[in-house]
Amino acid sequence: MLNQVALLALALSPVAFAQISDGFESGWDQTKWPIYAPDCNQGGTVSLDSTTAHSGKNSMKVTGGSSGYCGHIFFGTTAIPSGDVYVRTWLKTANAFGSDHVTFITNTDASQSGKHLRVSGQMGIVEYNRESDDATLPDLSPQGVASSVGFTANTWTCLEYHIGTDGTIETWVNDKSISGLNYGPKITNPYSQAWSRSTLKPKITGTYFGWEAYGGQQNTFWYDDIVISGSRVGCSGSGSTGGSTGASTSGGSGSSPTTTAPSKATTTKAGSSPATTTSPAAATTTAAAATPGAAQYAQCGGTGWSGATSCQSPYTCKVINPYYSQCT
Ligand code: CA
Repeated sequence: MLNQVALLALALSPVAFAQISDGFESGWDQTKWPIYAPDCNQGGTVSLDSTTAHSGKNSMKVTGGSSGYCGHIFFGTTAIPSGDVYVRTWLKTANAFGSDHVTFITNTDASQSGKHLRVSGQMGIVEYNRESDDATLPDLSPQGVASSVGFTANTWTCLEYHIGTDGTIETWVNDKSISGLNYGPKITNPYSQAWSRSTLKPKITGTYFGWEAYGGQQNTFWYDDIVISGSRVGCSGSGSTGGSTGASTSGGSGSSPTTTAPSKATTTKAGSSPATTTSPAAATTTAAAATPGAAQYAQCGGTGWSGATSCQSPYTCKVINPYYSQCT
């Protein structure tokens, strides 16, 4: 693990300047951060808020409108590094995520012909959602859900994610690597069955901060101290001198997922130990590849879904919301 951390630090060192950073203390520069609402906008608002901030006195406030999906709105930028991309923001949510799918950061993805790589919330946790095939990372099994985290309401939280040119995704919350939100050629994530169905390597060309709800959930998000960089910034980094702050201490490719994911799964299984005597979760997961139909807890339907719509026996496809059905 230490060797991998050292290697990561070496790998990150060559490119180390922020493309863009802002604490919004000089106000909201609408040329730098234009409003973005690609499909429709009925009532969502973006504003500079001087009543709450992570740093100084100002932050950006986004309130989703009351018209459901069309209440979505974002502010963002296309000043994105051409290679690996690191996005660091401090954020605060008025309400913790519910069960429905929402998005609070969205990235235009050239590998999906301009559709989006979404940083989403669903089932109470942070997840990635690939718009083109609606895959989620992590899988939304109980173990997959346990491998990510939610946000505490009304609490400033540091989120950073890395989108690598080789398809790597890494995620840190308050500088802690989140195993379920890591993926890539050097990373083992047992809850990435849905994500791994596609070999697309995200190519980010725009990043937008805001709110979009697919099940009608309204919310307010605040963002502050945003840095978009070609290297790791870390929670305490300003982005002005590069990104080495967090890279040497927080782990990265390969190390944390393999060390933390199994312990999470073990914890989850322990809570339902009666079931494991007849059908261990790991065995169920392994069987998914060998027989037709989606495995237990896998997605089997929803708007935009193009994968399997049947489930392996004895599971049935249950509608969770209009955008997600799951084999249970
Ligand atoms: Ca600020």
